Amino acid sequence: MFQPPRCPNRQCRQHHDPKPRFCRRNGFYRASCRPRPIQRFLCRTCGRGFSRQTFRMDYRDHKPHLNAPLVRLLVSGVGFRQSARQLNLSLTCTQLKFRKIARHLRRLDLNLRGSLPPGSSLQFDEFETYEGERNTRPLSVPFLIEGKTRYVLWSEAAPIRPRGRMSEKRKQAIQASERRHGPRKDLSARGIRRTMQRGADVAKHLTFIVLHTDEKSIYPGIAREVFGESRLVHVRTNSKVARDTLNPLFPINHSEAMIRDLTGRLRRDSWLTSKLRRYLDLGLALWGTWRNYVRRRFNYDEESPAQLLGFVPRRLRVTELLSWRQDWSRESLHPLAQGGTTIAAWKRRPPVS
Ligand SMILES: [Zn+2]
Repeated sequence: MFQPPRCPNRQCRQHHDPKPRFCRRNGFYRASCRPRPIQRFLCRTCGRGFSRQTFRMDYRDHKPHLNAPLVRLLVSGVGFRQSARQLNLSLTCTQLKFRKIARHLRRLDLNLRGSLPPGSSLQFDEFETYEGERNTRPLSVPFLIEGKTRYVLWSEAAPIRPRGRMSEKRKQAIQASERRHGPRKDLSARGIRRTMQRGADVAKHLTFIVLHTDEKSIYPGIAREVFGESRLVHVRTNSKVARDTLNPLFPINHSEAMIRDLTGRLRRDSWLTSKLRRYLDLGLALWGTWRNYVRRRFNYDEESPAQLLGFVPRRLRVTELLSWRQDWSRESLHPLAQGGTTIAAWKRRPPVS
């Protein structure tokens, strides 16, 4: 039976420090999009009403049953328009659903992750894509994974200055673009630092941090700054070494190939491009969470990357990813909890043997 863990009203005392029996049951309501009646509650302190649905990720959604099918299409390289056609949704509705779901999944992934176990090793690389127009608005995407489990720790896009061969036509296009959007800044160092910091956050207690990268000259300085010089073991591999399975960077190269293939907007020569960087970031978050919690590490494995790292006891289903809302950090409900257990309380539980 579902027990509300707190009053959803942020102004209420029972939101921050809920006491037992802070609310009482208050009947049911029926919604045409849901098969069962939904329990209502009333907070005894602030008098506000809420329901079990208030704690769900699809709270207030239209056609909530299409959320999971949409995620499955978007992590399979299908674009927004084709997804909209397949699900019989409008394009705007598809985009709005995507943004809400991706923000939710980014929070879920951060809430569920714990500390990396000893023996973990990090792999970092960058790949390039663009927003709006390839010639004038390139992006660099720093990408950090745990090498053994392929767990995606972070990726986010950063603007870079256009470079490479400059024809007269291209120079004019760059000028026109800068008149429209302002001078294009190079924020790639900030993106690298922020991405590496996500690794440092889950590696605080490790005695040594093994980091694999290529030989780009900017990496050692940022890595020392983020991870601390004394415990960093930085292994650098020349980019000219053959990119086969024996290459030390094979795990990250392989993960990059996978995200490029399965996120339509990262594919080369595709017309599925991101118009805005922030929505590319959401696409990266959506794919990363699915990769970490739903997909097996390798096809012959039973476990997901997050499961191998001990963050969750089993692989999650897409519908479980889309269960409880995650905007109260670790005080949000655990996706595998039915009765109202928070992630913090779930992580304190003794392991079931
Ligand atoms: Zn209240």
